Amino acid sequence: MSDDDQDNTTSHPILCGLCKAPVGSKEGADGETLYGCADCDNWDTKDEVIRIAGEYVTDQAQLDLNRSMSDIAKGSSVMSFSGQTESTKEFRFVTDGPF
Ligand SMILES: [Zn+2]
Repeated sequence: MSDDDQDNTTSHPILCGLCKAPVGSKEGADGETLYGCADCDNWDTKDEVIRIAGEYVTDQAQLDLNRSMSDIAKGSSVMSFSGQTESTKEFRFVTDGPF
């Protein structure tokens, strides 16, 4: 993935995982640009914000898959599905999808 992929039409805003506000940016103590949420004092570097939001997307995609598996299993008396369908993880940065 390119670092400055500015015209990616499939991009989605990254949101604060704690209050769901769109992330802003500020200059860190060492002059580095930090991204995050002023209300929650939830800041990190661009790479880390993207990494965490990416993990969130992966997690949501797995949960979506689990939910459809669960629906399929419900319609069958033979199959049963016991996978996780709700996230128990907390992500400091999320995105509004699609997943
Ligand atoms: Zn926040």
